[in-house]
Amino acid sequence: MPAAIYVHWAFCPYICPYCDFAKWAYDERAAERYVRALEAEIDRTPVFEATTVFYGGGTPNAYPAAELVRVLDRLRERFGVRADAEVSVEVNPDRELTRGFDQLRAGGFNRISIGAQSLVAAELHVLGRRHGPDDVAETVRRARAAGFGNINVDLMFGVPGQTEASWERSLDAVIALGVEHVSTYGLTIEEGTPYARWADREPGAFATNDREADLYALAIGKLTAAGFEHYEISNFARPGYRCEHNANYWRNGAYAGFGVGAASYRGGIRSTHTRDRAAYEAAALAGEAIPGDSEGLTGDAQAGEAVMLALRTSEGVDADTFRERYGVDVFTHYAPIIAEYAAAGLLVADERSVRLTARGRFVANDVCGAFLARA
Ligand code: SF4
Repeated sequence: MPAAIYVHWAFCPYICPYCDFAKWAYDERAAERYVRALEAEIDRTPVFEATTVFYGGGTPNAYPAAELVRVLDRLRERFGVRADAEVSVEVNPDRELTRGFDQLRAGGFNRISIGAQSLVAAELHVLGRRHGPDDVAETVRRARAAGFGNINVDLMFGVPGQTEASWERSLDAVIALGVEHVSTYGLTIEEGTPYARWADREPGAFATNDREADLYALAIGKLTAAGFEHYEISNFARPGYRCEHNANYWRNGAYAGFGVGAASYRGGIRSTHTRDRAAYEAAALAGEAIPGDSEGLTGDAQAGEAVMLALRTSEGVDADTFRERYGVDVFTHYAPIIAEYAAAGLLVADERSVRLTARGRFVANDVCGAFLARA
């Protein structure tokens, strides 16, 4: 069965105070051992047909471009990644790290996703990021010069100290860069991070839900007015530039994750590798099964998950596809939930699909949670 490939590059040039991903500060020897473990995991994974490839992290470009390409070659050899497949790499816009784009492009990467977060210097400082707004522009310039025609920029709203005016500045600056795709995420406070301790000490420094909703509305207004399609809750694309890799997640499609903490979903089984890097490396290098958790999703649990994911998209849940795949009529199976949220103006259902309304997107977690709870 075909599957999308995710590769987790677990090192970063520095650690941001809000981040809860599986990541460590870059250390050459540790990073080298990790990449050997990744290659060993790739080599022992039973062959399947790859659809898309996504390098995330961590910071993939903490590694030299040649290493990123070498691992991609390995994936191609083993999983037959098609020549026209979307192959994305996340990059940190730090100037020192954005060399080697020519090599990445020549090696088969065709989409770059830039972790900008903001284009306002004061906000970047608060976020503990070491790049400035100019570095983001320079990263786009370098990517274009290397031949990348598909560029995403990640932005964050709800940053302490962010105002409507400063958020607009970031949005305007990204639009002016002429990129094909923009992702906007609300800042979340993750347990155990320095930001969580800050939020405990000074909750007023962080945006309330209402404020986040206002900032989200601003992003939707600006980006759609600039010609981006708002095709998923957090994602905006110029026509023809939706992210294929992520679209597969929202279709509840199969994916295979490589690396520490990486998640997979194959044959109805959802599994997650351990976040213990030493345990991951030891198992991968010994050719053993990677420790972690897994759960089988069947029946209502699988259908609920599929509804939750599809509702994130502008197309929503397609009733025919849903019936074919899960043997469930979405309109009858979820009738009370659909009726309740449609009456509240948060969902719309016609004879073919169920979708969030514009208002529903602001409370998507609550609406999706109701479908999951039905399971
Ligand atoms: S660069 Fe990204 S992955 Fe690394 S610590 Fe910062 S937010 Fe986390």
